[in-house]
Amino acid sequence: MSPCVFCEIVRGNIPSTKVYEDEAALAFMDINPISYGHTLLIPKEHFTQVSQMDVEKYQALVKMVPELTKAIIETTGAAGLNVLQNNGRAAGQVVEHLHIHLIPRYEGDGLGFIWRPKPAQEKELSLLAQKIKGVLGK
Ligand code: AMP
Ligand code: ZN
Repeated sequence: MSPCVFCEIVRGNIPSTKVYEDEAALAFMDINPISYGHTLLIPKEHFTQVSQMDVEKYQALVKMVPELTKAIIETTGAAGLNVLQNNGRAAGQVVEHLHIHLIPRYEGDGLGFIWRPKPAQEKELSLLAQKIKGVLGK
């Protein structure tokens, strides 16, 4: 099995353009940016998906999101920014080390999800909500 590319970045075995680092998290520039200023924020510990993290570790990871977002917007002059985190191949995840995309957005940049919203049935929504609540057990 080939080593995890982001673990290798954490270990310093693969170079990265670092923006921020603390004991739990590392932010660096995406090597194939989809927009000017595209930055990644990762936990130093290897997790594949967000559902594997406990609340303390997740908090330690995301605590810099507001400040990083502000700094990236200020630097790039972006008009907006998407905070995006893909979980699983079906959701577009390629690198299997959890990462948060900070994607600066510019007017008319043509990026974005293909949203095809359609109104839901009230009954279906409440059934779904009941089930989720049941799994949460809270
Ligand atoms: P995802 O599709 O959510 O798994 O996104 C993976 C992201 O990691 C992509 O935007 C890649 O361009 C980026 N990426 C992959 N390898 C590297 C690397 N060595 N340094 C910086 N970014 C990388
Ligand atoms: Zn890893």
